[in-house]
Amino acid sequence: MSQSQTEQGATPVVRAIDLHKSFGPVHVLRGVSLEVRAGEVLCVMGPSGSGKSTFLRCINQLERVDGGELWVRDELVGHKLRDGKLYELREREIARQRRGIGMVFQRFNLFPHMTAVGNVVEGPLRALGRNRSDAYAAARRLLDRVGLSDKYDAYPGQLSGGQQQRVAIARALAMEPYLMLFDEPTSALDPELVGEVLDVMKALAGDGMTMIVVTHEVGFAREVGDTLVFMDEGIVVESGPPRDVVGAPQHPRTKEFLSRVL
Ligand code: ADP
Ligand code: MG
Repeated sequence: MSQSQTEQGATPVVRAIDLHKSFGPVHVLRGVSLEVRAGEVLCVMGPSGSGKSTFLRCINQLERVDGGELWVRDELVGHKLRDGKLYELREREIARQRRGIGMVFQRFNLFPHMTAVGNVVEGPLRALGRNRSDAYAAARRLLDRVGLSDKYDAYPGQLSGGQQQRVAIARALAMEPYLMLFDEPTSALDPELVGEVLDVMKALAGDGMTMIVVTHEVGFAREVGDTLVFMDEGIVVESGPPRDVVGAPQHPRTKEFLSRVL
């Protein structure tokens, strides 16, 4: 990367170049290349098993990449380059790289024995070393932001799926990420609860958060996405402005898939 690119702020937040990943004999990512710039919302669609979750998990280093290059901001994920040589990072450095990336899963994975605010302060207290009063004040502001001002002290079991997912979003934001990954965040929700979660994500995008969202919510992708990527069998088969991809899909697999979800 050249100095001038850095000065212009042109460094992508995520850049994948010909990424490969296998689980044993199963070649899951077969050359994924894409870029996400600061403030962009990239939506990812594709059939089950096409490698969408694996791709997100590689960015967040829940999985290791086997081949290709994965850059997050100006660093190689899991590696450092020094004097033209590639070194694997140690655990501490990997933890540091992961810290700026928030992830929200299909299942909310909240700590069931902790209140909403307790779930949100956990990371800042433990991983960021914040003091209690600052962490609690910030957590309450985040719960306000996701529309849960009246649920600070509720336990996950007392919350609807949509409310739990909003706590999960607040919990991820509490770590002050510069990139948010969403893996089918509304797929496990009853239909009437989907909108409240999408609204929170839309507001987050409006605030300028860089986001990668695996979703089959075509309306969200059209309205909020800057780019829509369609994945199939471990590669990006089509990519472009969501309106174009949804309105006039070019690839037969995209056409077939959209005809089923629309
Ligand atoms: P998607 O999110 O698009 O549905 P995934 O990335 O979850 O796809 O999975 C892609 C493929 O990789 C599937 O065939 C899945 O069974 C396989 N896979 C994912 N994770 C693992 C794992 N930890 N071990 C073995 N196979 C896996
Ligand atoms: Mg998945």
